[in-house]
Amino acid sequence: MIRRIEEEAPNGFRSMDLSPTMLRALKQVRYFQPSPIQAEFIPKALDGLDVIGQAKTGTGKTAAFGIPILEMLEPRGRGPQAIILAPTRELTQQIVVELQKLAVGRDVVVCGTFGGEPIERQIRTLQRGVDIIVGTPGRVIDHIERRTLFLGEIVHVVLDEADRMLDIGFRPDIERILRKLPEPRQTLLLSATISADVRKLAHRYMYQPVEVNLSRDEPSVETIQQFCVTVEPDRKMDLLIHLLKRDRPRQCIVFTRTKRGADRLADRLRRTIPGVAAIHGDLPQTTRDRVMRGFRSGEVSILVATDVVGRGIDVENISHVINYDIPDDPENYVHRIGRTGRMGKDGIAYLFVCPDQGDPLTSIENLTNKLITPLQVAGFEVRRGSIMQPSARELYNNTDARRTAALAAR
Ligand code: AMP
Repeated sequence: MIRRIEEEAPNGFRSMDLSPTMLRALKQVRYFQPSPIQAEFIPKALDGLDVIGQAKTGTGKTAAFGIPILEMLEPRGRGPQAIILAPTRELTQQIVVELQKLAVGRDVVVCGTFGGEPIERQIRTLQRGVDIIVGTPGRVIDHIERRTLFLGEIVHVVLDEADRMLDIGFRPDIERILRKLPEPRQTLLLSATISADVRKLAHRYMYQPVEVNLSRDEPSVETIQQFCVTVEPDRKMDLLIHLLKRDRPRQCIVFTRTKRGADRLADRLRRTIPGVAAIHGDLPQTTRDRVMRGFRSGEVSILVATDVVGRGIDVENISHVINYDIPDDPENYVHRIGRTGRMGKDGIAYLFVCPDQGDPLTSIENLTNKLITPLQVAGFEVRRGSIMQPSARELYNNTDARRTAALAAR
């Protein structure tokens, strides 16, 4: 977690050989101290090395690659010198905003390009000349096919959230783009997890990469209080409304497994609670932008989201994350709850677990190496005499015993 520290420590940005322009920009955005990933990543990237950084969103990873790239840009030529590939439109937009903040005092144009927005507008921006292009792989391919993006001057490539891009199925697009890029170049790769697939990509397209790993021992964030509530499937909606009314979250993301589930849930919540919106990949870009603006401004206080869109959301004020549907992949749990507890603030995460979901719960706990505190909510006890589980307490006891054994066996 990044904490704002008002006085700069000795190993701060000043020891990194950054330009006065960059130091002024950092002062302006009030980054007084590099985050751990920045402290490790920036000097290596400034040396021109290919770097693999294992880091999650919320750790300052954008500035980790953004600062060295801005420092290494040459005066503008025919095309962009840096290309950043990211899995979602929202993340792309966040990267653009962060880079623009860090580029104050320089004549640097950063352009975001992603599906769902008219390509013509993006083409006009490209024609006016850009230094850094940030895009989703699909839209970048679109530009390559239309010959509206000149890649001949690219020197720096960033694959951001590489694991996520591969999960979504962007591998062929990413490889096609990488094969089009000139050499020699610098390739930087950021990923929350370094899976065998990510390694394969790195092995093929990076030159003797060095690795920076800061999330190995802390897959989840300490400032977040995590609770799991066992609930019958047909009581989940009532439990959600109960918790929202009881806790009155400052801002909350509710995660569902499917896009339709997100819509349905948001529709039902709206009947009782104000400030509810849904976001997922099937919505038109204009709607997604509007929803995100509403969430950032606080007008929307409860956002119902699916994993692909939700996990990249970087809004500082989120007090609660509710896992309405248990995630299919335990990694997603870590990404989901990481939306709260940002910048050292406290956060609360609830996980709804149905009586037959002990196994996915155990997988999450094995991954995070932490037992999630069971929470009994009066009126929502698991039905006595239920065929699956006789009582909530027994479920906890059983699951606890299994979980403890699983952890001990590690
Ligand atoms: P990221 O991991 O890039 O999504 O960054 C998470 C948040 O941390 C963003 O809101 C950044 O503006 C902020 N941030 C990044 N680096 C620093 C820093 N060194 N000091 C304070 N805030 C930072």
